[in-house]
Amino acid sequence: MKIKIIGGGPAGMYFAILMKSAFAGHQITIYERNGPDDTFGWGVVFSGKTLSNLKTADEASHAEITRNFAAWDNVDVVHRAEKISIHGNSFSGIARLRLLKILQQHCEELGVDLRFRTEAADLGSLRADSDLLVAADGVNSFVRQILSNQFRPDLSVRPNKYIWYGTNQLFHGLTLTFRETPAGVFAAHSYKFDQTTSTFIVECDPQTWNAAGFAMMSDEETRAYLAEVFAPDLNGQSLLSNNSKWINFLLVKNGCWSFENVVLLGDALHTAHFSIGSGTKLAMEDAIALKESFAAGSDVVAALKQFEKYRRPVIEEYQAAAYESMVWFENARDYMHLAPIELAYVLMTRSGKVDLESLRRRDPEFVAKYEASADYTD
Ligand SMILES: Cc1cc2nc3c(=O)[nH]c(=O)nc-3n(C[C@H](O)[C@H](O)[C@H](O)COP(=O)(O)OP(=O)(O)OC[C@H]3O[C@@H](n4cnc5c(N)ncnc54)[C@H](O)[C@@H]3O)c2cc1C
Repeated sequence: MKIKIIGGGPAGMYFAILMKSAFAGHQITIYERNGPDDTFGWGVVFSGKTLSNLKTADEASHAEITRNFAAWDNVDVVHRAEKISIHGNSFSGIARLRLLKILQQHCEELGVDLRFRTEAADLGSLRADSDLLVAADGVNSFVRQILSNQFRPDLSVRPNKYIWYGTNQLFHGLTLTFRETPAGVFAAHSYKFDQTTSTFIVECDPQTWNAAGFAMMSDEETRAYLAEVFAPDLNGQSLLSNNSKWINFLLVKNGCWSFENVVLLGDALHTAHFSIGSGTKLAMEDAIALKESFAAGSDVVAALKQFEKYRRPVIEEYQAAAYESMVWFENARDYMHLAPIELAYVLMTRSGKVDLESLRRRDPEFVAKYEASADYTD
């Protein structure tokens, strides 16, 4: 089978690895507009469950990925300068660039034809010249746009602004920090992903963004302003920019996932808010599900239908939880009156996937403290 993949991100490369491992005779080409060492962003997070899925799907890349991990079990919530830790969670972080390098190496070893610095633009001829065309071309997918009558995308630009920095201050655990300022509330999502670096994403609502005057600031002024807001948390370390810019989160859904021999994968197909840290996880688990649909031995159109039938309910459940979490952060200012322990509890249960009893199993000490807090009423 001749497979062409647009996009050399986690979704495209992992799918290529799984297909080539299962069907060595397939001819697989990946078109990636960037070079092998270009990347945006800093680190990405996986849960313990995702790691076990990756292990089952491909032991070799799993072993490489986990060798490069920073692992932790705590979520820390910082509010009014008090830190509350909630243990019993299983997460790991890895540099996005490191992850991409591992996937690139496995693609090369397996004989996948990786074409860097190659823009895919002519959808018609790419489709005509392949049995299967995978559009793993990210959140702004051009394939999704060209075939919008077929895929029926539902795109929603969310109101909050966020910006993705790194820092050499090490946050041991997924740390959610809230800082109230005269302009409004800023939230930081941070976690260590290697021995020297943490991801540090800052988010705020549009009122705060306007009041702070970011529209008139240069990148440098923005970075200095935010470093000042989070000075007590950064402990003298600066914020590191990777051409970091303010963005509005784009929520992506699609009415139909495939058309003839073309299928959407990863962020091109769906997004889930970064506050539940699952974009890369979903992209790689999509790749597993798509490969499994072909393992059943059906033809391309039947396999793509099977992929959607099996995978859509899983994605919808994830997007529902991520939606609750995203809306929580959009309304973060409404929760700032809460005491730190109460805020930590509300945050841990915000997506509807965790309740008091499951929290008690994870961290009985935290729940005991929460129940003992003055305002707690059963
Ligand atoms: C602020 C922020 C924080 C995040 N935090 C996390 C996190 O903690 N954990 C997590 O798991 N995920 C996180 N994510 C999400 C993660 O980055 C994405 O969900 C994930 O990379 C999706 O993988 P993908 O392969 O679908 O798309 P991408 O990684 O976007 O890859 C798409 C690729 O396609 C290429 N491309 C696009 N168009 C073309 C074309 N026409 N021709 C050739 N190449 C093309 C692009 O260059 C790109 O390399 C975060 C995202 C953001 C923005």
